[in-house]
Amino acid sequence: MKFHNLTIQDIRQKLNSGELTSVELTRVCLERIKATDDKLNAFITVCEEEALAAAAVADQQIASGNGALLTGIPVAVKDIFNTLDVRTTCASKILDDYVSPYDATTITKLREQGAIIIGKLNMDEFAMGSSGENSAAGAVYNPWDTQRVPGGSSSGSAAAVAAGQVVATLGTDTGGSVRQPASHCGVVGLKPTYGRVSRYGVVAFASSLDQVGPVAGNVEDCALMLGVVAGYDPADSTSVDCLVPDYLENLKTGVAGKKIGLPKEYFIDGLDPDIKKAVNSAIETYRQLGAEIVEVSLPHTDYSVASYYLIAMAEASSNLARYDGVRFGIRQDSGDGLIGMYQQTRTAGFGDEVKRRIMLGTYALSSGYYDAYYLKAQKVRTLIRQDFHDVFEQVDLLLTPVAPTPAFKIGAMTNDPLQMYLSDIFTIPTNLAGTCAMSLPCGFSEDGLPIGLQLIGKPFAEAEMLQAAYAFEQATDWSDRVPEL
Ligand code: GLN
Repeated sequence: MKFHNLTIQDIRQKLNSGELTSVELTRVCLERIKATDDKLNAFITVCEEEALAAAAVADQQIASGNGALLTGIPVAVKDIFNTLDVRTTCASKILDDYVSPYDATTITKLREQGAIIIGKLNMDEFAMGSSGENSAAGAVYNPWDTQRVPGGSSSGSAAAVAAGQVVATLGTDTGGSVRQPASHCGVVGLKPTYGRVSRYGVVAFASSLDQVGPVAGNVEDCALMLGVVAGYDPADSTSVDCLVPDYLENLKTGVAGKKIGLPKEYFIDGLDPDIKKAVNSAIETYRQLGAEIVEVSLPHTDYSVASYYLIAMAEASSNLARYDGVRFGIRQDSGDGLIGMYQQTRTAGFGDEVKRRIMLGTYALSSGYYDAYYLKAQKVRTLIRQDFHDVFEQVDLLLTPVAPTPAFKIGAMTNDPLQMYLSDIFTIPTNLAGTCAMSLPCGFSEDGLPIGLQLIGKPFAEAEMLQAAYAFEQATDWSDRVPEL
């Protein structure tokens, strides 16, 4: 069974009418995982027994009329969400044996709505990467072409949905990690506004940028999943206490009369011709749907990669200081004293990219360089935020590519971190600005690789952004295609 042409609400109906049981559906997912995951490596942990037991309970609840929004629906989450009783590794050796004593708020919310959490998904270690290759559990492969990367860091979250292993997933997006893999895998991924979704119990990478986001096979499911996880949480001091609209209610509003801006800095010369073609045709579709298209400018775009990588690495170096062999995860100790134990543990536990970032981040925060690097990057960030603020006085939404190229070959950039960082150019600015953005399928390259379109919305205007995404999805058939595996 493929889920792409069935929405969560379709599945809900089938479960409620008895045409399908949750146990059957969960078995389909588990079998699909067994049949495809040797090629994809999307999962770090599969909870087969627990999922089947939860499905049996869900079937009883449904039969007695007590089903909630996701009762009996199999989902999976990036291995960065703390889950009670199931290990949370962040795809790092240092957390190889770590089991959290509590569930992240988003996990609690999924469980409250009855979701079956079938497993934990592979990712770039501590969410640091753009390809899914920086994982202690091994690289993830793109379901459309297993010679290529699925994107990252929520690599498993996107690959699993694209391959029909589960109905929907959660990822995290610090600089594009939900949107870019969604784009490379031909699925829908959304980064909510900073503060929209609780991060309590989500392992921190860069706290001023991290946000939890859903990945799904279509816009409607993405809207539904966002509605489940969104909302104020007193346990996360950055979560914002504002109304969460019903994202499904007005999904069909359309885009007639909406003003969509094309930031000229995002339509650069280096853009891959297939991407240019697909995005241009998406712009035409929006025109036909009645949107007004205008060119706008986000003048500080060029500085976003540099300021992001300074801020993200600085915050990461501070957040990852806690993995010292004392409180969490593995310990390496050959009896050289406390400092020796720290060094051995961190040398053995972290992968190369994580070490690179800890070193660069520590450097940027050091007393002699703080002003020149970290403080400067924060000032640039303010200018970037201001760009978005100004542009949203003129338009309702922005439309851009998600990535400058389609999915690249495995290994193509592993020796050139800077090149890899530059590939985040279109996704990073929204994390710096804190606003919401999403990726949805808008075409295929000559080589048959999916291409994503990015919509950027005003802060807390996810509903409006989803309406525009839905209108596009209904007018095209890109989301209906599924990879052959
Ligand atoms: N690719 C970016 C990075 O490596 C974004 C990662 C993310 O969003 N978690 O930092």
